[in-house]
Amino acid sequence: MRRFFFDPAARKGEMVLLSDIESRHIVKSLRLHVGSRIELLDGTGLRYLAEITSLVRQVVARILTADADAQEEGVALHVGQAMLKNAKMDFVVEKCTELGVTSLSPFISSRSQGNLDDGERGGKRQQRWQRIIESACKQCSRTRPLELQGVRPLAELCSADGGEPRRLRLLFWEEEKERCLHDLPPFTDYGRIDLLLGPEGGFSRDEVALAARFGYQSISLGPRILRAETATVAAIAIVRYLSGAM
Ligand code: SAH
Repeated sequence: MRRFFFDPAARKGEMVLLSDIESRHIVKSLRLHVGSRIELLDGTGLRYLAEITSLVRQVVARILTADADAQEEGVALHVGQAMLKNAKMDFVVEKCTELGVTSLSPFISSRSQGNLDDGERGGKRQQRWQRIIESACKQCSRTRPLELQGVRPLAELCSADGGEPRRLRLLFWEEEKERCLHDLPPFTDYGRIDLLLGPEGGFSRDEVALAARFGYQSISLGPRILRAETATVAAIAIVRYLSGAM
């Protein structure tokens, strides 16, 4: 069944007005018709079964049923990703969405490459990432979007402490030779897990020491040096598995 996003503000009772973009896609490309059943998401954690009632200008649909998201979410997983070059960062945003990461915090690392200016481009970059998140949510049927934080320095990210109890904080470092994920105690009942992934040039020793002051343990993903975007996907998938979320 085809899946579409709608803005909760475009809902009146059980009637939903879909956006111009979604309407054009429904009418021009998918050629759906009045009576067609569709799945709707509004980013609030609910999933709706709906029926198209009108195709004039913007598509109107009537909500038939609503379900709270059955997807198990497991413990909240917050990823801090050192800024990577554009396409790699777009890839990480999309994969964090698909893999059920709660929030993504891009940060500036001393060895980040690519253009980091956060001026007017920063606004465009955040908008592009939001579009990637929405598109990935539609594709993977995720009902609550990835929370995207603003780009900030590593020190600010590490010190932003929500005060949750029982936090696990891991920094993935290719120069860590001792500890890897299966050396850690069982991932039972953590309240929150924070991961830090480095830039193409790797974390500096100062950055590893800074993060350690905030409770981050450095962790190896094995003897090979993974590309930054490979390490991020691998780390998230393994931690999600160990924390019982997949
Ligand atoms: N400095 C490396 C490149 C860093 S890889 C080089 O010499 O080429 C980019 C990021 O991926 C690292 O900062 C780290 O966060 C992660 N990473 C890559 N391989 C890893 C490994 N074997 N263990 C832990 N993290 C790794």
